[in-house]
Amino acid sequence: MSALPPGSTIGILGGGQLGRMLAIAASRLGFQVHIYSDTSGPAFDVAAGHTVGDYNDTGAIAAWAEKVDVVTYEFENVPLTAAAAAAAIKPVRPNARALEAAQDRLTEKRFIADLGLAVAPFAPVDDYESLETALNEIGTPAILKTRRLGYDGKGQARLTTDDDAKSALDTIAHAPAILEGYVEFECEISILLARAVDGSTACYDIPLNTHVNGILATSTIPGPLPDPMTEKAIDAASRVASALDYVGLITVEMFYAGENSDQPLIVNEFAPRVHNSGHWTLDACAVCQFENHIRAVAGWPIAATTRHSDAVMTNLIGADVNDWPTLAGEPNACLHLYGKNEARAGRKMGHITRLAPIAS
Ligand code: AMP
Repeated sequence: MSALPPGSTIGILGGGQLGRMLAIAASRLGFQVHIYSDTSGPAFDVAAGHTVGDYNDTGAIAAWAEKVDVVTYEFENVPLTAAAAAAAIKPVRPNARALEAAQDRLTEKRFIADLGLAVAPFAPVDDYESLETALNEIGTPAILKTRRLGYDGKGQARLTTDDDAKSALDTIAHAPAILEGYVEFECEISILLARAVDGSTACYDIPLNTHVNGILATSTIPGPLPDPMTEKAIDAASRVASALDYVGLITVEMFYAGENSDQPLIVNEFAPRVHNSGHWTLDACAVCQFENHIRAVAGWPIAATTRHSDAVMTNLIGADVNDWPTLAGEPNACLHLYGKNEARAGRKMGHITRLAPIAS
């Protein structure tokens, strides 16, 4: 498939805020967007078409794929059967391999470690015996994480001593899991890398990310990485992307343990999609992560990822959004609201990016 001309239709699996921001970026380039989602969501308001269907209904997915020119997705838990049903009809970008590797923490950790990149010590856990074995190997403190469907700190339990083993297993409802050694990091960062069909790449500047209750709270740019570390971090993300023959925007989350550490950069996980820690690119860069993802999946060249401002992106979680009248009046701030009607606790309702001239 050569570059899709404007007027073509991009199919997006998933109808949340990431789908919404992808659809807005796609429409700016003259594309139509058709969303497939199992429920009505924020992306529906801004897309030319939408289909509500079960992600396991491969017949409905195939019928939807007939109506679009290329398929992408905004969440990593798209069933592999859905991706395969779509791929039989139209190109799916990023490919199903990226989904498969990202959906299971054990597969993901092994894949990253096999690339020669540093990861936290890890071991598979299926039951109490394998947890004991893993604890003997890894020690405490440690984190038990479900292999599948964990996000925003959900599906995790921390172990301070071996005595926490039983309660940790209860916390994750005895789901298949991995035990990870606790990494003493200075801070968390994410690499936002766009990769085109021809393998060319471009990376955004690397933000510093903070979390509250396991949910991303802020992304600050510029981040803390000194130049040589920046190169290493970008190289690591490029290796992940090229090993997957990835097309689109990939996010590789890392712990930074400081310049003097034996392992300064430790890969935590990757998301085969645009990411909350890249929302500042909407307002601080000429071309945002969403447009570069659409460009890549449409077979277009990646545009410059150059940043024209310093920025702090703050998520509006739950009731935070009720401050919108004040936030809307703030100078040098860009407010983004996702159109969700119920401000439930822990729900991402919007974000605000505060801009400043690049500090020299
Ligand atoms: P995750 O779901 O893997 O992104 O984990 C959620 C958050 O838990 C991360 O953003 C970190 O703040 C923390 N975390 C996860 N894994 C580790 C680890 N191995 N060592 C220390 N902190 C971790």
